[in-house]
Amino acid sequence: MINQLRTFFCLVLIGIAACVGDVLAQDDDVSVVFVGDLMLADLPGQRIKQGHNPFKPFASVLNKSDIRIGNLECVISNIGTAEDKPFTFRAHPRVLKLLKKHFDAVSLANNHTGDFGHAAFDQMLGFLTQAKMPFFGGGRDLHQAHQPLLFQRKGITIAVLGYNEFFPRSFEADVDRPGSAWSDDEQVVADIKAAREVHHADVVIPFMHWGVEDEPLATTRQQSLAKRMIDAGADAVVGSHPHVTQNIELYKGRPIVYSLGNFVFDGYSSVENTTGWALQLDVNRTGVRQARIHVARIDRYGTPHPSRKDAGQCWQHGESSFADCRP
Ligand SMILES: [Zn+2]
Repeated sequence: MINQLRTFFCLVLIGIAACVGDVLAQDDDVSVVFVGDLMLADLPGQRIKQGHNPFKPFASVLNKSDIRIGNLECVISNIGTAEDKPFTFRAHPRVLKLLKKHFDAVSLANNHTGDFGHAAFDQMLGFLTQAKMPFFGGGRDLHQAHQPLLFQRKGITIAVLGYNEFFPRSFEADVDRPGSAWSDDEQVVADIKAAREVHHADVVIPFMHWGVEDEPLATTRQQSLAKRMIDAGADAVVGSHPHVTQNIELYKGRPIVYSLGNFVFDGYSSVENTTGWALQLDVNRTGVRQARIHVARIDRYGTPHPSRKDAGQCWQHGESSFADCRP
């Protein structure tokens, strides 16, 4: 009888231990949120000058996350001359305070951080450093542009890398020139491997700037590079640039969210262009454990608002499809 009681208590204790273990594992998740294009010039820039904060309506979502990352789709500078291209975006340094308040890092790997030349880009690096605003996907030279940005949270190391592959390539960093990181395939693979082997990252996530504008489906180029990155050790691949959200795929059980769409951007009116995703990846030492999409509706001022049609948690590790993830 005593033995039976002991067995019973052991089973109960084992049950509790397993249960507590489970709960702890989830509490130990690090939530990383990615948003798409942050264009802080034009109307959003004017509104910020007037005292508005375009991040405020979404702050409750962003602030719940451990790491908040956005694609800075402009240069922050007060020097330089606009490049000869259809759209050029230069934000006033006053935006830094708001960025710092709502984000833990920005990617500089896109087709707009070079809009006012390499000197303006270099000045931005100084501003970001002064503001203690971490950045990746760009740097003072080629070497720094390809370094992973490392976050240490809850005992795990998370690395993010950023790459642009939308022209002009002249914005690219060089051995002695500041600029962004270009997605040269061999280099991307080497960077991902180095993030694991040299920097000892537990989780590696490349943030891409790629794809065709206004196109809801990823190109074969995006698909093949995403797979190559996962083969090299990426735990997930996230992207922006098309100004619309794109399809989501799984490869080797790892999520590829090709485009998050816009986040802070004015000048658009279609539902597709004014819908953005804040992608929340809950990660642990083994990779991405679950994903959630917070849908943003962007108003005429370029300000994102949480949608009532929030898709919620939409994928867990081991599930074979992201089908329920799209709102
Ligand atoms: Zn872009």
